[in-house]
Amino acid sequence: MLKLRSSLPDYLISIDESIPEYFFIPALQNASYPFSHSILIKPNPESNLAFMIDSGIGHTTIKRILKDFNISKTFLSHWHEDHISGNYLLQKHGSGFFCHPKDSQILQNLNQIQELYNTKGTVVEGIFKELIQSLKLVDLPQISPLIPDEFILCNNSVKLQIIHTPGHSAGHCCFYDSKHQFIFLGDIDLTGLGPWYGCLDSNLIDFEKSIQKLLQLNIVLAVSSHKGIYQGEKRISEELKKYLEVISKRDEKILNYLSPSKPTRPIDLVGKNIIYKKYGYIKDYLFIAEQIMIKQHFDRLIDLEKIIKQGENYFLAL
Ligand SMILES: [Zn+2]
Repeated sequence: MLKLRSSLPDYLISIDESIPEYFFIPALQNASYPFSHSILIKPNPESNLAFMIDSGIGHTTIKRILKDFNISKTFLSHWHEDHISGNYLLQKHGSGFFCHPKDSQILQNLNQIQELYNTKGTVVEGIFKELIQSLKLVDLPQISPLIPDEFILCNNSVKLQIIHTPGHSAGHCCFYDSKHQFIFLGDIDLTGLGPWYGCLDSNLIDFEKSIQKLLQLNIVLAVSSHKGIYQGEKRISEELKKYLEVISKRDEKILNYLSPSKPTRPIDLVGKNIIYKKYGYIKDYLFIAEQIMIKQHFDRLIDLEKIIKQGENYFLAL
């Protein structure tokens, strides 16, 4: 049960005095992979009933939260392993789970993960398997659907709108409180790397549209899963625009490699820093993700009539 405290437990951070019901829960290792930040929503100050968004903060923090709060509902932004590692503890605790149906079907059967990352049968399959085991991921048999544009009602003053923002994954969602102009961005994460669409259920065109959708909203406070809290309408809008521009910069880099006469395939551009600045010891995996992402740019550049495809080869359009 809740031990009433005069001050906040040290794992919770107030986001802003304008939104006293929301708390930032910082993840282990500054939310670098395989961890991600969460939000705790405490609609009634007198009660220990609370909700969470995502569960990838680290097992120790989740255990501490569950000692202090009754987390009745957990909202998942998407299925990726770095956002769901606390699900096994929340499941034991009795929390309900909510996710967009396109990602729920993956959370119900996590055996699909390696197929989606295109790592099955590759040199990194074993490393991935070990990582999944260490994160203690569990299938969630029962997940309620997050319906795009509908509202999650926490109480009279806390009303979160579900913003379906596909691209990073097919069912990725952001959570938006229009009254307080606050949003949880999930993995539209504003990192310097830029948008990531390296899974087989990712989609570059959808990702662009999702960022443009967010630019239409009034946002003065935002939380990114891997970068934390952002404040200020101008700053957040600038960060989103900068993040969006990374996509066209990648287009330009790719076009520089293409020629009207010399055939090029997506695999030929892997390892040339189109997406990643450096590859390091996880290079075998980054090459797989990079190839998926470059292929999506090729498809887009065909739509834009900047390149043409002949068989498996691509050429600059004349
Ligand atoms: Zn993700």
